[in-house]
Amino acid sequence: MAHTDDFVLGVDLDGVCADYEGAFRTAYAARNDRDPAELPPQTVLDAFSEWGLTRRGFADEHRRAVLDDRIFRTMEPIEGVSEALWELSDRGVWIRIITHRLIFNGAHEVAAADTAAWLDEHDIPYRDLCFIGDKPHVGAELYVDDAPGNIVGLRAAGRAAVVFDQPYNRHLAGPRAHSWSEVLALVTDVLDGRDRQLPLPLTDA
Ligand SMILES: [Mg+2]
Repeated sequence: MAHTDDFVLGVDLDGVCADYEGAFRTAYAARNDRDPAELPPQTVLDAFSEWGLTRRGFADEHRRAVLDDRIFRTMEPIEGVSEALWELSDRGVWIRIITHRLIFNGAHEVAAADTAAWLDEHDIPYRDLCFIGDKPHVGAELYVDDAPGNIVGLRAAGRAAVVFDQPYNRHLAGPRAHSWSEVLALVTDVLDGRDRQLPLPLTDA
């Protein structure tokens, strides 16, 4: 296989590498005396309005989950993420983690430190870590994201983006991956030049 040092894969964290919703559900249910099994999955990515949360209520709950429950350190990885990213990294793909986690002032130390600790603990290979909301401003040959706003924004900016399947993004056009093995297959196709819809990497190093 060709070695592909020049190919940057931009990878989102929450809902792609890490089970944010599961961790937030557990933290929220414990704090509010709710049964986590009765809290439905998000079908619209907003502020967990399905659980009766307002935007402000969500912001407060999210802040507590991050600062008090330390969910960025404790949440479960999405199955297969470490193995798939290692396979791509071993092939020379430059893995750039791109996340919008620094959304509250006063929580940055915990959010950044817990994120870095989590990436190490779950053996996620990456070469840089970008905390940014405006994702098209961070360069990558291909992005993997779950948030409809990010996918739409990236594509509007002319970037190639894979939708990581979640209930709240089913209305978006593909390419779509339902698992990390599907991400791996899709990126491998791009690297090997089998998928002409997505950008090709530069030639062999
Ligand atoms: Mg996400």
